[in-house]
Amino acid sequence: MIDIRDLRQNPEKYRQAAADKHIDVDIDALIAADEKLRQAMTSQQDLAAEKNRIGKDIGRVAGQLKKAEGETKTQLQQEMQNLQQRPNQIKAEEAELEQTLATLQQQRDTLLLRVPQPAAPHVPVAPDEAGNVEMSRWSPDWFDPDKPFAQNKGFEPKSHLQLGQELGLFNFERGVAMAGSRSYVLTGAGMLLHNAVLQAALTFMTVENGFTAMSVPVLVRDHVMTGTGFFPGEKDQAYEIGETRRGGGHDLYLTGTGEVGLMGYHQDQILPAESVPRRYTTLSTCFRREAGSAGKDTAGLYRIHQFDKVEQVVLCEADLDTAINWHRTMIGYVQSFMQKLQLPYRLLQVCTGDMGASKIDQVDVETWMPSRGPEDADGKPLGAYGETHSASLLGDYQCRRLNLRYRDPEDAKGKATRFCYSLNNTVCASPRILIPILELYQNEDGSVTVPEPLRPFLGGLEVITAE
Ligand code: AMP
Repeated sequence: MIDIRDLRQNPEKYRQAAADKHIDVDIDALIAADEKLRQAMTSQQDLAAEKNRIGKDIGRVAGQLKKAEGETKTQLQQEMQNLQQRPNQIKAEEAELEQTLATLQQQRDTLLLRVPQPAAPHVPVAPDEAGNVEMSRWSPDWFDPDKPFAQNKGFEPKSHLQLGQELGLFNFERGVAMAGSRSYVLTGAGMLLHNAVLQAALTFMTVENGFTAMSVPVLVRDHVMTGTGFFPGEKDQAYEIGETRRGGGHDLYLTGTGEVGLMGYHQDQILPAESVPRRYTTLSTCFRREAGSAGKDTAGLYRIHQFDKVEQVVLCEADLDTAINWHRTMIGYVQSFMQKLQLPYRLLQVCTGDMGASKIDQVDVETWMPSRGPEDADGKPLGAYGETHSASLLGDYQCRRLNLRYRDPEDAKGKATRFCYSLNNTVCASPRILIPILELYQNEDGSVTVPEPLRPFLGGLEVITAE
């Protein structure tokens, strides 16, 4: 959530942010709702002050009445009568005002929750992903994405779908039979490879880079989804477990990323200054409705409803330079991991229209996938980069919503608090990452070599062959 005080002073900044990010929110309606709410709050304070005054006034008039006579006495008696009636009137006015305040607060907050955070000045302004800008590329010595696969490896590639079928790595038919479209079953070495790459990522973040491993709920309440910024804007992407409709207590939602549980972990808390930054990682199952994706990436493992992901989250002090450094560091972890796996990737500066409301900056990592992209004259895909990671810098947007603070070390009295800044990035999402692994590590005889860093997590298995 953005800071309403800043919006009051700089409404144009937020009008522009909404336009740049293509987010439909009426800033003028928000300002009007905020104005009404503040007027109602002032009325409430006035009533409270009047209540305090009445006791004193009654005492004063009672004293004056003792000495008063004639016309003055009559006037004072009338005044006393009015004063004695007023508390009951105030009670009724307060009750009415309380209702008005609740309605106004809800109206204002509904609009406020939709206001996007402005992107950093260097972020390109464009309506959609076509405006994303390549920042850099990396590829191992043995593979050059600028050349066709056959020139790199000396034979025509099979897609992960074909490899999976021939090597018995997954079964889409049974997945769809059980759970509908975009569902799958990982079988045999397919499941083991999936597990291995995730375990390797988790070990990399914890043992090698000192992050704290967490297992967090993937079924959470509304306030955590709202706090992390996924609601209300992306509510249509979440699966809802309607407990209230069943007569239960709370509706619950399946999370689309481990970031939700990692961030919700400290909701409404004040962290000791010396405990910041916090560095967390989790391996969690992610659920996505993929609303609006009809017809897009319908085949294979690319866009599915359920997958597993190792995620990294950092909570740091409220300082943009510190957060920018963390953003680079977190992208660096991914680069190291991808280079360990020897997978060709590129970094992409995401533009405003592809970024989402909550972010100041976003850098995606895209990995080369031989089965994607346009086809040549013979109908063979030429290969293309596909998104595998997304690194986001959110400033205090999430922590303001979550009411997640740390003690300000600069406050001598140790009382002041500040909202933390938050960042998150994928470490490894599987099975999507199996697409480049299988397709790039395939051999001419139809087998797949297991990338060396994954072998310890597969009992030393070096090559996956058909049974
Ligand atoms: P996001 O949280 O949307 O930035 O996604 C992080 C990563 O999760 C992506 O870069 C993908 O690797 C993976 N991912 C996201 N959505 C899907 C999906 N529907 N199917 C498979 N993998 C996904």
